[in-house]
Amino acid sequence: MNASAASTIRTLTQLRDSGLVDAAAAQNLAAVTERYALSITPEVAAIIQTQGSDSAVGRQYIPHADEVITAPEETADPIGDKTHSPVKGIVHRYADRALLMPTQICAVYCRFCFRREAVGPEHAGLSDADLQTALDYIRRTPKIWEVIITGGDPLILSARRLQTILSALDEIPHVATIRIHSRVPIAAPEHIDDALLNVLRTAHKPINIAVHCNHADELTANAVHALRKLRQSGVMLFGQTVLLAGVNDDAGILETLFRGLVAAGVKPYYLHQLDRAPGTERFVVPIARGQEIVKALRGKVSGLAQPTYILDIPGGAGKVPIGPSYLSGHDGALVVEDPNGLTHLL
Ligand code: SF4
Repeated sequence: MNASAASTIRTLTQLRDSGLVDAAAAQNLAAVTERYALSITPEVAAIIQTQGSDSAVGRQYIPHADEVITAPEETADPIGDKTHSPVKGIVHRYADRALLMPTQICAVYCRFCFRREAVGPEHAGLSDADLQTALDYIRRTPKIWEVIITGGDPLILSARRLQTILSALDEIPHVATIRIHSRVPIAAPEHIDDALLNVLRTAHKPINIAVHCNHADELTANAVHALRKLRQSGVMLFGQTVLLAGVNDDAGILETLFRGLVAAGVKPYYLHQLDRAPGTERFVVPIARGQEIVKALRGKVSGLAQPTYILDIPGGAGKVPIGPSYLSGHDGALVVEDPNGLTHLL
């Protein structure tokens, strides 16, 4: 690897100097990096250096000239965060759970991110006053049973800031459990340090971390070690994966990923249909193809390694499972299809 790739790549010049794109390609990317944040950590750059820029990992993080093209069905807020935001930093779509978004910064910026118009260093996180207002909303809303800390990436916050948030949530009686969504254990595992682990270990309420990982090549030895430390600190680990063309739209690739996650102590939780954010057309996998892939895994792979295939309905109507159906009607009776494709009358 080039010496310049040993630190996080944040500019087009650094990207070119790292050798991950050549000079001609870098020139075509200026409009993209003006619009969308760029960050490739040394952990991720090392994988791309080995696998290639057009590999499953490279495609997730290296900007592409097509990102400035917006397809008709793509929108800046594909799942309607804004329409469900009662105060800054809160999204409250379902009665029993609310998102708390203390930062818009991420360790890496994924080229398919559904919040790509809202994340990046130029988007401010919550000020102390805004954070208190957001926490007050949770305090005065007794139906909120679960708080999902997301962003941006909450595990990029200092241990002290995270402690402030978790301590405040610990004091709210109706909040039973806390979830954190993060790419950090995979993309920047060095952030999972003693200070952070101590904060997680001393929280009173159960902490669940949903780890975003899309390909087994992202499960490096450092990432697996970070996941082990998180597990040992008492948190529950869940996996979330986005189904992405050219990255993981293949049953064998997903089987390897899901088995790898389970072996690392992470229960695959959701396989997401791509949310149509601007400039993400090249990652689209048709739902019918997604169902085929999910069907191919059924019966072949342990249930522990099978996430729910899920669609966040565009506009903010909520999430629904969209996996294949095994039941059908037949002359007033039910017919069920088994994992081998044979049908049985119920
Ligand atoms: S880490 Fe998550 S929030 Fe950040 S760019 Fe990637 S998908 Fe988006």
